[in-house]
Amino acid sequence: MTTPPAPVPAPAGASAWVSIDLDAIRDNVAELVRRAAPAQVLAVVKADAYGHGLVDSARAALAGGASWLGVAQLAEALRLREAGITAPLLTWLFAPGADIGGAIDADIEVTVGSMWSLDAVLAAVRERGAPARIQVKVDTGLGRGGILTDWPQMVARLAAAQAEGAVEVTGVWSHFAWADAPQHPTVRAQQVRFEEACDELARAGVRPPLRHLANSAATLTNPSAHFDLVRPGLAVYGLSPVPDLGDSAHFGLREAMRVTARLSVVKRAAAGQGVSYGHEYVTDRDTVLGLVPMGYADGIPRAAGGAGPMLVGDRRLTIAGRVCMDQVVLDLGPDFAGAAGDEVVVLGRAADGEPSAQDWAQAAGTINYEIVTRMSPRLPRVLLGGPF
Ligand SMILES: *Cc1c(COP(=O)(O)O)cnc(C)c1O
Repeated sequence: MTTPPAPVPAPAGASAWVSIDLDAIRDNVAELVRRAAPAQVLAVVKADAYGHGLVDSARAALAGGASWLGVAQLAEALRLREAGITAPLLTWLFAPGADIGGAIDADIEVTVGSMWSLDAVLAAVRERGAPARIQVKVDTGLGRGGILTDWPQMVARLAAAQAEGAVEVTGVWSHFAWADAPQHPTVRAQQVRFEEACDELARAGVRPPLRHLANSAATLTNPSAHFDLVRPGLAVYGLSPVPDLGDSAHFGLREAMRVTARLSVVKRAAAGQGVSYGHEYVTDRDTVLGLVPMGYADGIPRAAGGAGPMLVGDRRLTIAGRVCMDQVVLDLGPDFAGAAGDEVVVLGRAADGEPSAQDWAQAAGTINYEIVTRMSPRLPRVLLGGPF
């Protein structure tokens, strides 16, 4: 038994909108906190909180018990501070020229993941005459960010910088290549390498209180990787990072994002009518066509033409033909009794029978992460639950 979805208020006059259930974000984080304990939870709110809204999602995550927030970019971290959020905050992706000093001034912990970024931190520290709290990222095998072959040099430099009082290294962290396949041999190998890297730091006298490695998948499936802190992103928003192993409900999570549109045109069409650009769909009987005013500019993947699911009443339909920039068409069937203005659920909760981000990912040949993060800012947002 599932509870029927709560009616969602629509913004006046909107033809399509995104609603965000902030209580779901709070509850998902509470579930992650429970699973991770005694490790702490850093809620990842990068990319506008995976499309859910940076500041409101961050507040909901803190209400659920997150002790840290994490973002990829410095500008995202600064926006959280400007909104008055004072929680511990980690950032990890910037290029030469970034305002590291500004981050230090805003009490944001930057991740040193290269030799140049340690130089930049030390320059900012000299300018300010005050030490900085930083974290260091070791590449344990992902082959992406972080220190790989230069780890011994980085360890020596950090030990010297810390001994001089220039920096306090509060964390050491890394990221998995195959966390979504918990049995993959690289998972164990990266954990072993991570522990070695932490030991090398400790032997040099640097003992960061926070060691962390786990994203959502490892938080949910691999307690041996929890260390002192976990860094879930996707699961915060109620999506499963391991759809082959379990859906949202299986992990005690609920999807926070719902996308709704209103049919803007409903009209009869004869059999043999080509539909949308290129006429890739042709009606096989007299029928009723419905226009849904959302397209690839709104976040409907163009690759989901002929495949993307939408719920009209209690019927699940598939996009007829190509996805256009602003619209798609549904073949509503000859007996359709509705009218323009009727609501269509584009994305919602699998447990309520609504199309899930995973359904869309399968239809478009991508992952659920990409579906939610690409819902366009031009869709009005409605916040439910909270406020936090
Ligand atoms: C995005 C990100 C995460 C969160 O990953 P999920 O798979 O969404 O849980 C964690 N750590 C880092 C470094 C990231 O970039």
